[in-house]
Amino acid sequence: MLTDAHCHLENNQELANLLVKKQITTIVNCQTPEEWHINQKLTRNMEPLSFGIHPWDANRLTLQGVLPYLEQADVVGEIGLDSVWTENSLDCQKEVFTAQIEWAQASNRPVILHTKGCEKTILATIRQFPNRYLIHWYDCSNYQREYVDLNCYFSFCLAILDDANVIKLARKVPLNRLLIETDGLSSVEWLENKPVKVEDYPLILDQTLTALADLRQVDKNMLTKQVAANLQRFLGK
Ligand SMILES: [Zn+2]
Repeated sequence: MLTDAHCHLENNQELANLLVKKQITTIVNCQTPEEWHINQKLTRNMEPLSFGIHPWDANRLTLQGVLPYLEQADVVGEIGLDSVWTENSLDCQKEVFTAQIEWAQASNRPVILHTKGCEKTILATIRQFPNRYLIHWYDCSNYQREYVDLNCYFSFCLAILDDANVIKLARKVPLNRLLIETDGLSSVEWLENKPVKVEDYPLILDQTLTALADLRQVDKNMLTKQVAANLQRFLGK
């Protein structure tokens, strides 16, 4: 009953096959029309797909241009703002972000958020547009309580092993808002600073669950079921 609330397939058919074969419910992220078509094919429509204009692409994609994909997606995301890892201006990012947040609320779609360096602004934005939000890989020490109080979902990756801010957050999220993510194999490789094989993917999810169960001092099997139920609820199923 493993789950992955946020994953980039990066054109990896072997990983897509493993998700389907092992029945790992995974929200597979698509950030361009091209990637949408590729991921539909790779997953044979067996996994939920998220579609959103990532802040890194805010300078080249528009809401109008991606509406056909948003309309088909189970989840809007990952979308957000980023003042650390992109040269795109915040004004340009905000325009694309706000348009998508408004569309998601009006269309009753849950949202996956990328908040890097812009945690305060995003908090203020989502307060204006109540919806189901999943905050992915939140590693900021500030505003944790505020996001928790807005009933957001939070997905935790292997950074839970040694990132003090992530650990601090993992202690305070209610059990019914906890999720697990990998953010894709490249992110795991970046974190671990070593190559990771597709066959190790279930183990990575399992290690993350173990760490979270230890931190929360709850039974791992119970937590695994809870996280799976949380993902279904986030998806609106
Ligand atoms: Zn991501």
